[in-house]
This record gives sequence, C-alpha cells and structure tokens, in this order.
Amino acid sequence: MDVLKLFKETGALLEGHFVLSSGLHSGEYLQCALLLQHPEHAERLCRELAKKFLNKKIDIVIAPALGGVLVSYELARALGVRSLFTERKDGKMQLRRNFKIEKGANVLVCEDVVTTGSSTREVIDIVKANGANVAGVACIIDRSGKENLFKDIMLYSLAKADIKTYTDKQCPLCKSGLSITKPGSKQA
Ligand SMILES: [Zn+2]
Repeated sequence: MDVLKLFKETGALLEGHFVLSSGLHSGEYLQCALLLQHPEHAERLCRELAKKFLNKKIDIVIAPALGGVLVSYELARALGVRSLFTERKDGKMQLRRNFKIEKGANVLVCEDVVTTGSSTREVIDIVKANGANVAGVACIIDRSGKENLFKDIMLYSLAKADIKTYTDKQCPLCKSGLSITKPGSKQA
C-alpha cells in the first residue's frame, strides 16, 4: 500500500511553504484529517495497521483526541475491541467521560501522525497509571525520524515520512520569496 501516494491524492500532503507550531519552516505539511475524512480510506489503512496486532490479544485501543480518534476507532473495529480517547483539560491529558481502562488490560495506543510523540507519551502514562499494559503504539505516519521513539515500547507505522524542516534563517523557501502560511493543527 502506497500510503504517501494516498495522502497526496486526497490532498492530505500539502506542498508549499509552511510555518509549523514549533516555529520551524517546511515545504511539506501533513493534514491527516483530509485523508481520514474518507471512511473507506480510514477503514482500509487501519485494517492494514491492525494486522500487526491481530495475535497480540489487544483488549482496548486508545488515542489522544482529536487527531487519533478516527484511527483508534477504525483500529478497534478491525480488532473487535473498544476504542477510547483521552483529551486535554486545563492543559492536562486526561481520561474522561467515565471511560475505563481495566487493571491488567492489554492496551494499544495509537495516533494519526507521530512527530515528537509528546501526546502519545501522555497517553502511555495514563494507561500505565491505570495498571494496564501498553502493547505498543500504532500510527499511520511516523515522522519522528527516530529509530525507537518510545524506548521499550514498539512504534508501528504504515509509512515513515522524512519531512525536512528549517529555521527561518536557513529556509530555502524564504530565500526564494515564496509566501508562507500557518496551517491549523497540532501536527505542524
Ligand atoms: Zn521559510
């Protein structure tokens, strides 16, 4: 499956000149929601991703809202288990809505795109704090550029994207005079 091609076809891989939330500049930008707006693509991608976990006895899939929710839901459908999400309240990631992670449950944490992995790490901490096991992390795109971002926890992705970023001083797109846009998403 050519995942990046599917991103391009659905307009989810934008090309231009972007300033990311980190302040860095980039010529490419992933807007996963534009791919996942198509249920048939979301279902197919997550069914493929779920194959890596079919014999791992997963009990629950969980993701940080909003970006990971659709991935969690489709992975859970493919694995025949529950889909939960965490959300930020007053800046702190929390499990709300009376969602329950049972002690000893085998939990798959997921995301649409993993960059720094900071939200994912907060979800991992919530799973562990509930006395459950983290079976792994699954994502559509790994753009962390790292071998094992979560150390002892395996990160599985459908594709790795090497998206170059620049400081404003080094940015070749700034030098070429291309106007810059700031896309709205935490993935920036
Ligand atoms: Zn620039």
